[in-house]
Amino acid sequence: MNEQQLLHSSKKHLWLPFTQMSDYERDPLIIESGEGIVLKDIYGKEYLDGYSSLWLNVHGHRKQEINEAIRDQLNKIAHSTLLGAANVPAVQLAERLVEITPSGLQRVFYSDSGATAVEIAVKMAYQYWQNIGETKKKKFVTLTNNYHGDTVGAISIGDIDLYHRVYGALMFQSIKSPFPLIYRHSSNDEAFIRDEALAKLKEIFANHHEEIAAITLEPIIQGAGGMNVMPKGYLKGVEKLCREFNILLIADEVATGFGRTGKMFAVEHENVQPDIMTMAKGITGGYLPIAATVTTEKIYEAFYGEYEEFKTFFHGHSYTGNQLGCAAALANLEIYEKENVVGKVREKALLVEEELGKLKELSHVGNIRQAGLMCGIELVKNKETKESFPWQERVGYKATLKMRELGMLTRPLGDVVVFMPPFASEAGQLKEMVNIMKEAILQVT
Ligand code: PLP
Repeated sequence: MNEQQLLHSSKKHLWLPFTQMSDYERDPLIIESGEGIVLKDIYGKEYLDGYSSLWLNVHGHRKQEINEAIRDQLNKIAHSTLLGAANVPAVQLAERLVEITPSGLQRVFYSDSGATAVEIAVKMAYQYWQNIGETKKKKFVTLTNNYHGDTVGAISIGDIDLYHRVYGALMFQSIKSPFPLIYRHSSNDEAFIRDEALAKLKEIFANHHEEIAAITLEPIIQGAGGMNVMPKGYLKGVEKLCREFNILLIADEVATGFGRTGKMFAVEHENVQPDIMTMAKGITGGYLPIAATVTTEKIYEAFYGEYEEFKTFFHGHSYTGNQLGCAAALANLEIYEKENVVGKVREKALLVEEELGKLKELSHVGNIRQAGLMCGIELVKNKETKESFPWQERVGYKATLKMRELGMLTRPLGDVVVFMPPFASEAGQLKEMVNIMKEAILQVT
């Protein structure tokens, strides 16, 4: 197919995720190749990958060691089922994941996307309490604006109205506790904002703990809800309340895991031990769809027994524990060790913080939020009052389209421009991306 045919066919037959296809028809884009942190479309135009190909690319595209690991694995086998049978890279990766996650986490259950990892966490937490006879514990608490993926279980514990509202009748009800949002709070005392949110959560736990199975949260920084950073101590406070009221803590590290916030996992910032942790995106360096739900031996044991006891976790997918994906993940984690990837994230985050600081002077940049290399730039109509642009103006969307024109790809969350560069981005490339964002924001606001 030539370029014209590809374009025509993409408009005629493809249906892109989280995309209004009329937008795509007006501004189509077809990527053909990538090298390092640069993506190239079918016309040869190059773009800096400012969103790590949706928050997952780590070492850049076509990283030799990962390519080779996949090729080597292909020469052995591409896939065999994990239902009732293990496979070599799945075993090796499970051991590696147990080594790098917080010490209480000992068991790895695979799947293939962030949403499926979360879906598993929900069912695992629910069945855990059923299996040990605490049959009233069936409800989930979540924080306002949380995002955990798009499957029905995941949206039931999420709180992004735009994505969820049409599916109300399909979803189970979760209990919402306020996320301690800093930017628009009437107080600018972070400790006050933290304590206020913890007090609300404590009230919910105190009133309903007998029926609450678990709370789910995105540690340290809430991603799709707008890149909102938690006040210091909030996460630790939630952990303490979970222990006090016998409620499981599910840490969704799908976006934050594998160094994105400057620690291997974001829970490490506050030395928190979740009961269940979900991970995906960066696990294979952004190569293949592997995800994992990792849990404690205590939870695992509640499912262990003879078949006749019906404690089995009846869950799994055709491609669960895929060998190619596990081999890519193993190669990815080897590079983490060899190249001190997480240490470098911390260094680069400092540079990004300094560079993004230059955007603060723009008259429509209201707030810049960052945890490691996970950043959001909120565009507002009025900086003083923090008034948002009318949503119909789609300022965030227009800004990212302009960025595309200028040679960088990212996607907005409403009027929050996401900046999540691959960890392999060099200083010059990081600066160039910030300059592109600045220019685009100036042009559309
Ligand atoms: N959980 C969090 C915190 C996420 O940020 C995302 C995706 O952005 C998901 C879950 C869903 O992951 P996936 O898109 O791989 O299903």
